[in-house]
Amino acid sequence: MINQELMRIQHEQGYLSEAALNELSERINVPLHRLHEVASFFPHFRLEPSKATVHVAVCRDMTCHLRGSPACRQTLDDFAKAIPNQKVHVEGVSCLGRCDQPVAVSINEKVFVGESVGRLQTIIQRMLAGEAIEPPASNRSSRGWKIDPYDGQRPYEMVRKFVRMHIEYQGWFESRKTQFAAPAAATGPLDDALLADIARVEGCPEAAIAHYVRRSKEERKREREFLRTRPWLIPAEWVLYELGVSDLRGMGGAAFPAGEKWKSVRRSKTKDRGQSMPSDYIPDNPQAHPGAPPPIKYVVCNGDESEPGTFKDRELLLCYPHLVLEGMILAGLTTGARQGYIYIRHEYTEQIAVVRQAIEEARTICAELFAREAAENLTFKLADVYVSPGGYICGEQNALLAAMHDFRAEPRNKPPSVSDEGLYGQPTVLNNVETFGWVPAILNRGGQWYAEQGVNRGKGLRLFSISGDLQRPGVYEVPVGITLGELLKLAGGMADGKELGSVALSGPSGGFTPRFVKLKSTLPRLSKQLVELGICRGDPDHFDLLDLPLEFDLLKRQIMLGAAIVFYGDQANILEQSLNCIEFFANETCGKCVPCRVGTQKLRHLVGEAVKGRPLDQQLIADLNVAMVEGSICGLGQVAPGSIISILNHYPTSLPQSPQAD
Ligand code: SF4
Repeated sequence: MINQELMRIQHEQGYLSEAALNELSERINVPLHRLHEVASFFPHFRLEPSKATVHVAVCRDMTCHLRGSPACRQTLDDFAKAIPNQKVHVEGVSCLGRCDQPVAVSINEKVFVGESVGRLQTIIQRMLAGEAIEPPASNRSSRGWKIDPYDGQRPYEMVRKFVRMHIEYQGWFESRKTQFAAPAAATGPLDDALLADIARVEGCPEAAIAHYVRRSKEERKREREFLRTRPWLIPAEWVLYELGVSDLRGMGGAAFPAGEKWKSVRRSKTKDRGQSMPSDYIPDNPQAHPGAPPPIKYVVCNGDESEPGTFKDRELLLCYPHLVLEGMILAGLTTGARQGYIYIRHEYTEQIAVVRQAIEEARTICAELFAREAAENLTFKLADVYVSPGGYICGEQNALLAAMHDFRAEPRNKPPSVSDEGLYGQPTVLNNVETFGWVPAILNRGGQWYAEQGVNRGKGLRLFSISGDLQRPGVYEVPVGITLGELLKLAGGMADGKELGSVALSGPSGGFTPRFVKLKSTLPRLSKQLVELGICRGDPDHFDLLDLPLEFDLLKRQIMLGAAIVFYGDQANILEQSLNCIEFFANETCGKCVPCRVGTQKLRHLVGEAVKGRPLDQQLIADLNVAMVEGSICGLGQVAPGSIISILNHYPTSLPQSPQAD
């Protein structure tokens, strides 16, 4: 509530005035210091009025940096300085999620992409003259991807199927009530006769039941308790079975099996608020929150997507919002969660509007489906879009939840896991946009179908955002396990006659890997695996990265593989690009833990000096890396040194050398 109110004030007044904050504090009965606690955390909020009437923010990260944003910003800054009375203000901004169309520039919060500097100056001048200028609308037509099982036809079919199955089982359950009510049956696992009977009810694949039988006795006993008290959850068995077969992974980066997460939320019990809820999450004044969150399970879709190089969710939200919402509804029905939120970064204004419209449609469909007499136990509500106040750290699941709880978006230690204590301290399914987006296709065509789409030992399909020095940067739907070379081919190869120099396989987090990598000496375990699999046939110390299969398990803990892949031409100054990655983390650290807060500043200084030609203290970098990896609470601090560590491993000769002692 605080965040959304602050965003409204800033939108209306251009900044958070003292008067507006006082008024808000009184109206919602929250102390002023709490408003400042939140307002001072997010860079989006301004506490001082600005003299400028036009605010220009030039993206400073990865692809935009590579493709000319420093020069663009400098030219616009010179241009602004020539305009009297500081009417135009130019600054840098973290990734705007338009890496496929560099350089991205936000002018009065409208994001313009791929414009020449001259055209940007014209837009600024026209805005100064009071003209309202909108960037061209994005293309919303279907991309023809396999993720869409409906291909323009009636969506939400899998929710309908879930409801149909539920109704069938409800009838089946009613007719066998006595079998379930017997005390022995109530605590023991389902017997085979009953299971065979379940399998006869249309809709649930027999394999799903067999899958259930294979579980341990203890697990079946627990499940039995669920089924006994909540027969409407039987179709959930079908969903969990198909997700398990598909091996769908979390597409936000961690690649954790989605089905396992859903199972764990399904098993978790809701907490009695006020007793087991983390004290941090209790509102300051419960009386002021008459609609305080009820003790129910939640579904949260993470559409924050603020990592440089990543923009695939932007396309999914724009073109296939109904698939994401359907995945969320199915997650709710399967796990027993009752309410869903979709969290989207505020710079995705088009996507927010499209999703809001899709939520209205989904609500109408759900209201009609769940109103059917035999479906009265089914319920799931989609709340309005939660517009993120911004910041890369909000992509971290606990930081995202802290922002939703109206606190500073700071991660916390785990356990408890989000599956057990997530939104409002309750069990929560928290997945990425793409993860939810795949669920309807998997249920429609079967988990087996999805798994078989993969190549080179990979399972399934996924989206990659690819950018950099490319002919056709963009979002590509590809089989898991595709080689880097095949992906590069899809993007039309390198642009402007450049040769591939290096690749960042996980945005700014995973460092840079050269085209020809000394596998044996730098990544011995991966080298052994690739030789054994016959993927590396020649000298492992001259491995062509283009032959690398992009598969989750193969690369696990050896090369970080994210959703963002940035290709660099051989002319790119890789040490300077590493500094750019480190600057991103230094700007985005939440500052909660010392190794990350101080470490990122120290790295920025050391690598900045190296870029100027001063020798780099490699031992100090290695020590900082250990301190940050071991002492940081969340992934940001742990991966921040990744780019310079990759330079030490793969590009030692690019570092300035100490003068030789005579
Ligand atoms: Fe914040 Fe960095 Fe600590 Fe993560 S590692 S909690 S970003 S200070």
